[in-house]
Amino acid sequence: MKDVVVIGGGPSGLAVSSELAKKGYDVVLLERNDELGGLLQQCIHDGFGTDLFGESLSGPEFADIFISRVRGEDVDIKLEAYVRSVNKEEGLFNIVTVTPKSVEELEARSVVYAIGCRERNQFEIKIGGTRPSGVYTAGTVQRLINLYGILPGKDVVILGGGDVGMIVARHLFLEGVNSILMVYPEEFFSGLPRNAQQCILDFDIPYRPRTIVRDILGDKKVKAVELVDVDEDWEPIPGTEEIYHCDSVILSVGLVPYSEKLEDLGARVDKKTSGPMINEYFETTVDGAFSVGNLIQIFDYVDDAVKTSFTAAEGVERYLENESKKDLGIELKPGDNVRTVTPQRVDERTGEKFSVFFRPAIEKEDPKVEVMSKGEVLESCVKRYVSPSILEEISISKDILLGEEEVIIDVR
Ligand SMILES: Cc1cc2nc3c(=O)[nH]c(=O)nc-3n(C[C@H](O)[C@H](O)[C@H](O)COP(=O)(O)OP(=O)(O)OC[C@H]3O[C@@H](n4cnc5c(N)ncnc54)[C@H](O)[C@@H]3O)c2cc1C
Repeated sequence: MKDVVVIGGGPSGLAVSSELAKKGYDVVLLERNDELGGLLQQCIHDGFGTDLFGESLSGPEFADIFISRVRGEDVDIKLEAYVRSVNKEEGLFNIVTVTPKSVEELEARSVVYAIGCRERNQFEIKIGGTRPSGVYTAGTVQRLINLYGILPGKDVVILGGGDVGMIVARHLFLEGVNSILMVYPEEFFSGLPRNAQQCILDFDIPYRPRTIVRDILGDKKVKAVELVDVDEDWEPIPGTEEIYHCDSVILSVGLVPYSEKLEDLGARVDKKTSGPMINEYFETTVDGAFSVGNLIQIFDYVDDAVKTSFTAAEGVERYLENESKKDLGIELKPGDNVRTVTPQRVDERTGEKFSVFFRPAIEKEDPKVEVMSKGEVLESCVKRYVSPSILEEISISKDILLGEEEVIIDVR
């Protein structure tokens, strides 16, 4: 019988494993790949760790810090261990793992899901045309170039103006492809302003807002795409169709938390974040099942994803020591000009302040962020600038929530 099983050996799984082992718990870390580090192993650019370590590290450098921490603690690490299912019976978790050699079962008092997210594919965004080879997701291209030295194409169209697409565009440029065109339906890049500047504008990579790939053309291999302009509702504008020749199409059209496994366990999922609904200690709606990192929602920075692990480790400790009280039960919801809020509920009176992450729905300078209940402002603060491309964090005191049932976060 283990105290905790952590599923996923990316940065957030590594961080929660080492924190819990440091607290003296018997921890097993399960990772489906043959190495630790998660997504960061393919992110060879810098920009990681500025908040936690005060310096801009590459992905593997950042991962290495947490790999060393886990290896320095008494964590039982199992690689090539794919978690197929988790069930809870009589208060204990039964975890079924598939390895290259066998199917194994583990029993644990608690479980932490740190399995990250996946990329959306062409079928989810309904691109038409034939199905030739040469269509990739941005993460796959990043992996091919950075880990295996394979260039997927020479004349590339990238669909999506988010962070992953911009970073991949810069990689392709630096590898010397003939041409790159980035298209996206929004008016502005949807990724961080820092990435737009450092990856696209600094290298003069061509980009076209309010444009989408409607069809992918080609028999065996991609030969061209049909581009079309769209209006502010992303509806194609008739007469603007254009055939654009290319040999590969890269999709960078969003990341989706891997929530299915938690749903199978019976945890509730937030339709807005696509991640599990959690409390302030990152516990899901299944007692003793926690969730950390990009599985909760897509964090812009790995530093924030990892910070969830530190709080979750406290939550697991409280659960294992039977210290959880769960006497507040207050719902947190997005209000005016806010798309998502996590955590979705606050359960305990203990602890003075807790962090709330929210994604604004508007771009605005000097906006007021208000914590509201029954039409009254409970607490407010002013931010310098907000935008949908930047996930925001505020700290809320639990004292102000006492007696409330539902609290709403507004941006004015
Ligand atoms: C292209 C790109 C560029 C980025 N650039 C930056 C940047 O510049 N700065 C920054 O701060 N952040 C950046 N990020 C974000 C950063 O990579 C993430 O915040 C971070 O990797 C999230 O960590 P995680 O542990 O939650 O998930 P992941 O790193 O995705 O780790 C999840 C782990 O779970 C494992 N797993 C999944 N399912 C199972 C299963 N069933 N059984 C066992 N194991 C499983 C996976 O193999 C993986 O190892 C970037 C991300 C991408 C994709």
